Amino acid sequence: MNFIQGTRAVTPVELEAHSITRYRVTKSYIEQIINSNYYDHLKFIVEPSLEEFESPGSLDTSGEHDNTVLPGFQHKYAQTGMLLATDRCASYCRYCFRKRIVGKDSDEIVTNLEQVARYIRGHPEMTNVLISGGDPFMLSTGRLHEILDHLLPFPHLNSIRFGTKMLAYAPKRFEDPALVALFRRIHTARKAAVIVTHFDHIGEISVQAERNVCSLRAHGVQFFNQSVLLAKVNDDSEILAATFAKCYQMGIRPYYLFQARPVKGASHFQVPIRRGLEIAQGINQRLSGIQKTFRYIMSHYTGKIEILDLGADGRVYMRYHQNKAPEKIGRIFSRPYREGAFWLDDLPDG
Ligand code: SF4
Repeated sequence: MNFIQGTRAVTPVELEAHSITRYRVTKSYIEQIINSNYYDHLKFIVEPSLEEFESPGSLDTSGEHDNTVLPGFQHKYAQTGMLLATDRCASYCRYCFRKRIVGKDSDEIVTNLEQVARYIRGHPEMTNVLISGGDPFMLSTGRLHEILDHLLPFPHLNSIRFGTKMLAYAPKRFEDPALVALFRRIHTARKAAVIVTHFDHIGEISVQAERNVCSLRAHGVQFFNQSVLLAKVNDDSEILAATFAKCYQMGIRPYYLFQARPVKGASHFQVPIRRGLEIAQGINQRLSGIQKTFRYIMSHYTGKIEILDLGADGRVYMRYHQNKAPEKIGRIFSRPYREGAFWLDDLPDG
């Protein structure tokens, strides 16, 4: 198998034991990252590295198993349901936090949509469903319609959200004229149609992606972007500020900058919290007021935590952006900083 560091003979057993994600990358993405002149950074997103055999961590860093209420359906925060619609992506990110699922034949993928619909009917506090995976746009437009058949009848759902990296990996998918009717259906059911893109770096944004976002926006689709802070790829405030400014100009609202998770085989992508805060501050210094819409977030087992600052008192200040317990949301808390900490669990209590 080819790795960034060179070719190495590996057995299927060895790959399985180290949870090495299968290799797959689209031709259009490789062409885009070479032409962008950022190949030396962006290759780490899709090209396997020998570091994957050494990186410690877990395969379920956010407690997805504990929040799975039905096969393929998670309900962690009261307002949001999450559907795992597929285990396939157009290319596989080496840092994926769902590497336990993607590129495999996973039993965590939804099979029984009627059962999901029954659950949603019984949970009127749920206001939106995120269709994720894998990448939902790997599914045929017909299958996406089937999923909508089971979501649109509920008046308490006011938005349908798709999480996708397809605009980076295979932007042509969004030229399917049938998608316009899919999004129209969502609007006709009086719900917001939302696409959450996943651009980690300005070098991933192609002319074709920009054109397709522009045309879908004209059909009323709302766009947000989430990025992951990744060592060697985008741990640079200038690059991320340029990425967010470009998203903003395209009508995509920068939404989350995720702290990379301690994923087994991918924790070498993590950037220390101190450096992450410097980068987040550097991004804010470079953006205008209306472009500063991102939050630096750690998606922890206990909830989504916004990382705010490292104080002069040596403590990291944080705030729950989302938590299963509503009374914790918005509350600021702090932990002593330990040099080289990447995650909440690396910060001591007290
Ligand atoms: S596109 Fe998303 S789900 Fe697929 S490999 Fe990348 S991060 Fe994972």
